[in-house]
Amino acid sequence: MSGPGLEQARALAPRMAQRAADYDRDGSYPAGDLADLRQCGLTGLMVPTRLGGMGGTFRDYADVALVLGSGNGASALIFNMHASVTGALAGVPEEVARALGVPESFFAARDRILRAAAGGALYAVAMSERGAGSRLSELTTTYAPVEGGYRIRGAKTFVSGAGHADAYLVAARTADPGEPRVSQFLVPAGPGITVEPTWDALGMRATASHDLHLDCLVPADALLGGIEGLAVGLAQAMPQWLVASYAAVYVGVAQACIDACVAHTQTRGLGRLPAVRARLGRADAAVAAARLVVLEAARRVDAAPGDALTNRWVWRAKLTAGQTAMEVAASLLEAAGTSATRRGHPLERLYRDARCGSLQPATSDVCADWLGTAALGEDPEQVARW
Ligand SMILES: Cc1cc2nc3c(=O)[nH]c(=O)nc-3n(C[C@H](O)[C@H](O)[C@H](O)COP(=O)(O)OP(=O)(O)OC[C@H]3O[C@@H](n4cnc5c(N)ncnc54)[C@H](O)[C@@H]3O)c2cc1C
Repeated sequence: MSGPGLEQARALAPRMAQRAADYDRDGSYPAGDLADLRQCGLTGLMVPTRLGGMGGTFRDYADVALVLGSGNGASALIFNMHASVTGALAGVPEEVARALGVPESFFAARDRILRAAAGGALYAVAMSERGAGSRLSELTTTYAPVEGGYRIRGAKTFVSGAGHADAYLVAARTADPGEPRVSQFLVPAGPGITVEPTWDALGMRATASHDLHLDCLVPADALLGGIEGLAVGLAQAMPQWLVASYAAVYVGVAQACIDACVAHTQTRGLGRLPAVRARLGRADAAVAAARLVVLEAARRVDAAPGDALTNRWVWRAKLTAGQTAMEVAASLLEAAGTSATRRGHPLERLYRDARCGSLQPATSDVCADWLGTAALGEDPEQVARW
């Protein structure tokens, strides 16, 4: 099987794995990985072919992210943010956009953004804030109309790729508290944006998820969709990008845990121990199952986007992937023994990286609550989650 981008991802993953320890140790941006991704055209994975991209589907994204995640989860997460911006922009059907009343200028802006991505531009997501997390309804970053565009002011946190992206998808609310509307802007890197290097975290250390301070002017067509107040509705309409796109990355990380444990086990002759074999066997079954859930969700996103059952699979995928990565990493570290907990051992890094899956929104608890509500026959979207 070889969809768009998969061959390139398979060629890159071993190189990413080789560089991962250094980036993790220093907590530095994985510049070599992202340069490779740009160079082989993967920034254009979700861009339609008419605009110079690969025309990937959500399933193609999932296949590529699984492979990149097995190389270096941190680099794959930066790529995930870029794919979310380009995939969501490319994925809104024109007739739906027109029915929403989107102005014609939106289509030109969309094509410009996507064409640049096919040419190597990298986009990041600046949604989360200290105190608000990723809850769009509680953001404090504001925007206000000014002559020719908008002024955006506020502070973001956990911005993967901060300081290295060409533009940031920024979620902000109207400055006027009387009419709270949350909108999204694509803000070019440059004057009015400063990076505060705050990311020194347990896992996914190479994502460079630093704080971002904004006080900038953007042109009118930086408002994505051309209409204010679309952010929360889009989050609900396209949960695959906000909820499940990390899932494939974390299944890739879980697969890397198995590969690292097998290598360690063979080197040290631990394969003769039934307990070690059993831990590997359970991990093998769990990762295979998680992969199937992620791919089933992706298949449904392409076949019936926004469908109630599709969305249920999307939330299942995020929960299953986050939980599986964390459990597999913990179990295999125990199988490998204390020598694998030394700094610099692949399992030590993977254990920390895998721990982040269930923390990324929607967290495992939020996913489980959504699924439990659906299982009870109630509408999970009636509960305010964003
Ligand atoms: C490796 C990594 C990379 C990231 N990259 C980015 C990025 O590029 N851009 C970006 O914007 N963000 C990014 N994030 C941030 C991520 O979105 C945050 O984890 C998120 O915003 C949560 O913020 P918080 O940690 O303050 O937790 P909170 O959201 O405040 O969560 C704290 C607790 O509240 C619970 N909770 C949260 N919401 C609900 C709810 N609606 N209902 C019930 N319980 C709830 C959670 O389960 C958790 O137990 C990244 C995070 C990680 C770990």
